Amino acid sequence: MKREIYDEDHEAFRSSVREFLDREVVPDLEQHAEEKSLPREFWVGAGKQGLLGLEIPEQYGGTEAGDYRFNAVLTEELAKVNMTLPSCVGIHADIVAPYLVHLTTEEQRQRWLPGFCSGETLTAIGMTEPSGGSDLAGLKTTAVKDGDSWVINGSKTFITNGYSADLVVVAARTSPEKKAKGITLFGVDTALDGYSRGRKLDKVGQPESDTAELFFEDVRVSDEDIIGELDQGFIHMMTFLPQERLGCSITNLAHAAQILTETIAYCKERKAFGQSIGQFQHNKFLIADLVTRVEVTQAFIDQCVIAHTKGELTPIDAAKAKWWTSQLQNEVLDHCVQLHGGYGFMNEYRVARAWRDARVTKIWAGSNEIMKELIGRDIGL
Ligand SMILES: Cc1cc2nc3c(=O)[nH]c(=O)nc-3n(C[C@H](O)[C@H](O)[C@H](O)COP(=O)(O)OP(=O)(O)OC[C@H]3O[C@@H](n4cnc5c(N)ncnc54)[C@H](O)[C@@H]3O)c2cc1C
Repeated sequence: MKREIYDEDHEAFRSSVREFLDREVVPDLEQHAEEKSLPREFWVGAGKQGLLGLEIPEQYGGTEAGDYRFNAVLTEELAKVNMTLPSCVGIHADIVAPYLVHLTTEEQRQRWLPGFCSGETLTAIGMTEPSGGSDLAGLKTTAVKDGDSWVINGSKTFITNGYSADLVVVAARTSPEKKAKGITLFGVDTALDGYSRGRKLDKVGQPESDTAELFFEDVRVSDEDIIGELDQGFIHMMTFLPQERLGCSITNLAHAAQILTETIAYCKERKAFGQSIGQFQHNKFLIADLVTRVEVTQAFIDQCVIAHTKGELTPIDAAKAKWWTSQLQNEVLDHCVQLHGGYGFMNEYRVARAWRDARVTKIWAGSNEIMKELIGRDIGL
C-alpha cells in the first residue's frame, strides 16, 4: 500500500541519509561490533551530515526541521541497517534533544547544543537504576543541596551511549519525601570529579552499542545544570516519553520490515524438494500473514507520526504503538530465522543478529507490561 505521509523533501532527505550510511557507516559495522561502540568519527560524520540537529534551532548549529517526519525518515533508514544505529542515534538526537531544547536556559543551550549538533558532545539519559527501571518514581539516586552546589550520589544502569557520553541527563531525587514530585533532571558533564562508568555491558544483542553502568560519588553540579524545573523531573520525563516510544515503534517496524524483505528474497532463492521454499503452502501463507501484519501496522504507525507532527500524539497511542510493534517485530524475526533454517542460527547471517538485537525492544523504553498497564488504566480498569 502506498504510504502518503512523506513528500519530496522527506524522500530527498531519505536518499541523503542512505547515501551517508552506505558510504561512511556500513563498511565499518563489523568494527563497531568488535569495539562494542560507535566511534566518535561516526558521530562527527553524522553531525556534518546534519543528522543530529533535526530538533535543534539553527542558531545553535541545528537544522530545526520543525517536522517530526524527518526524524521518522532518519529512524527508518538507520533501522534498515541494524537496531543499534537507531537506538544510539535515537537516544541522542530524538530522545535527549527535546530536553535540551525545551527545558533549558539560553546559557545552557549555548553551552550544550553546538557540540550536540556537531557530534562532539555525545549525550545519554540516565533514568534506570540497578534497583529498578519500571518504577521510575522510586528512583534512589539523590541530589542534595550544599551551599551553591547540588551533590549527586547513586548509580544508573543499562544506559545507552553511557560509556562514551560527554553529557548525561540524570534523574535524581531532590525531595525524598515527595516520590514522583521530588525528582529533578540535571545535565551532568561526565568529566566532573566523582563521575565514573563501569565496563561496557555484555548484551545478548546489539553489540555495537556502548551500554554502561554510571556511578555518581559526590558529583557536584550547580543550579545552572538543572534541566527544567526543580522537583518536576518526573513530569518532564512523562512529557517526552511518547516521542521516545514513537521512535522505538518506527525502529521496530522498519527493522522487521527490512529483514522480512530480505527473508522473502531468500525464500525465493533457497530450494528444497525441487522448488523454492517460499512456494510450500505453509511458508507462502506464513509470509502472506507477516507481510499483511507489517503493512497494517505501518498504517497505524504512520497515523502516529502524523499525530506527533501536529503535536497531538497521546501517551496512550504511543504506548499501544510501542508494545504492538515490539511484539510484532519479535514474532516476524522469529519466523524469519525459521525460514532460514540452520543459517538462521549463524551469527554471520543478518537475520540471526537481527533476531538477537530485537529481543530487548519488549523490555526497554517502558516494558510491554507497563505499556499495557497504562492502556488498561486509560480504559478505566
Ligand atoms: C540494552 C538496554 C538499553 C537501555 N537503555 C536505557 C537508557 O539509555 N536509559 C535508561 O534510563 N534506561 C535504559 N534501559 C533500561 C530499560 O528502560 C529498563 O530495563 C526497563 O524500563 C525495565 O526496567 P528493569 O530492567 O529495572 O526491570 P523491572 O522494572 O525490574 O521489571 C522486571 C519485570 O517486571 C515487570 N513489571 C514491573 N512492573 C510491573 C507492573 N506494574 N506490572 C506488570 N509487570 C511489571 C516488567 O515488565 C519486567 O518484565 C535500557 C535497557 C536495556 C536492556
